[in-house]
Amino acid sequence: MVIVGGGIYGCATAWHLARQGADVHLLEAATIASGASGGFGKRGVRANQRDLRELPLMRTAYDLWPRLADDIGACTGYERTGGIHLIERATTGTEGEIGAAETHARVQRDLGIPTEVLDPEQVRDLEPDVCHDVQAGLYSPLDGIADHTATTRGLAQAARRHGATVREDTTVVDLRRDGDRITAVVTDKGETVDVGHTLLLLNNTGAAALVRLLGTELPMWRVFPQALLLRPHGDAASPRHLLGHDHRRLALKRLPDGTVMLSGGWRGRWNAEHERGELIQENVDGNRHTAADVFPPLGNARLESGDASRAESCSVDEIPVIDTVPATSNVLVGAGWSGHGFAIAPAVADLLAQWVITGERPDPLRPFSYMRF
Ligand SMILES: Cc1cc2nc3c(=O)[nH]c(=O)nc-3n(C[C@H](O)[C@H](O)[C@H](O)COP(=O)(O)OP(=O)(O)OC[C@H]3O[C@@H](n4cnc5c(N)ncnc54)[C@H](O)[C@@H]3O)c2cc1C
Repeated sequence: MVIVGGGIYGCATAWHLARQGADVHLLEAATIASGASGGFGKRGVRANQRDLRELPLMRTAYDLWPRLADDIGACTGYERTGGIHLIERATTGTEGEIGAAETHARVQRDLGIPTEVLDPEQVRDLEPDVCHDVQAGLYSPLDGIADHTATTRGLAQAARRHGATVREDTTVVDLRRDGDRITAVVTDKGETVDVGHTLLLLNNTGAAALVRLLGTELPMWRVFPQALLLRPHGDAASPRHLLGHDHRRLALKRLPDGTVMLSGGWRGRWNAEHERGELIQENVDGNRHTAADVFPPLGNARLESGDASRAESCSVDEIPVIDTVPATSNVLVGAGWSGHGFAIAPAVADLLAQWVITGERPDPLRPFSYMRF
């Protein structure tokens, strides 16, 4: 089979399939982890405040992450830091009240995600340096962070060790069809690669263009999420947990080298001349000010680096499409992760491999059907 895309999804699915004896060809346009699955820092491995439809996947991923490094024989940088979703306002639109926090905590617990509501003192016990306006927190002790680049490269290596062919610098530009089957992919070098059993389109922002060749329009677009790296001043405090926020666009993680990674929904933009995503200064400033408001010791932190070059596909209802492509019998697509695809990838990739091997859609993937549109 052929897998298009060498991000966490392509590499993890290649590893699962190859170790079960499948003949796997993974084709990556640039290098492994050159898309959303690469770059500096770590990604949040978070269930707290995740879309409810993704929580069963995250429940499974909670079990997979701690042992993934041993399973693939490579570093993942996984740390179970615990995650706190900070609540400042008594009300934020229809959400954000303490009543909403208690309801969210109960529903998350019911779906297997340990979660408790913290009062202001409990928040400060866990995070002494958050601002005084924080009135509550939703705490998920099993949340954490992991090194996305190392994990993705480790998965590619593990797939290779199990016999998968992993090719970089190879862009899929066209598909050959025989009735409802895709028989081959055509690369930018004019080469034709036989698909065999199944074609998996796991190429994130590139998936919509290939699916369009098959007559289907995915309800997705591309964004360039902003990530910043701050160096706290002197011995200033830094966050001890993965921190999110109820109404501000903010995600904070402390990295092992003492820097703090800042993200949370701020965006860069496409630079057509240089053909890459770039930072927008106003958004860099906005993200830093928000971080300093919520976590004042970061007010004097130095900006070490920033990046908005990693494109991500967003879907119209902010959860992915993981499905067969209409009018085809051997093509699966997984895209539209909407900024939170990394954490659930180990669970989804395992299920995708099961789907390919058994021919049956695994139940936890049902909410992500294309037919919901
Ligand atoms: C700054 C940032 C912060 C994030 N934070 C989090 C977080 O905290 N927690 C979380 O869970 N998620 C987070 N995400 C989202 C997460 O990183 C992505 O959802 C995930 O990495 C997507 O993986 P992927 O394998 O689908 O895509 P990618 O890693 O983008 O891989 C797709 C690959 O396909 C290749 N490709 C494209 N078209 C073709 C083609 N035609 N032929 C061959 N190859 C092709 C590309 O070169 C690319 O390498 C974040 C994303 C960003 C950018």
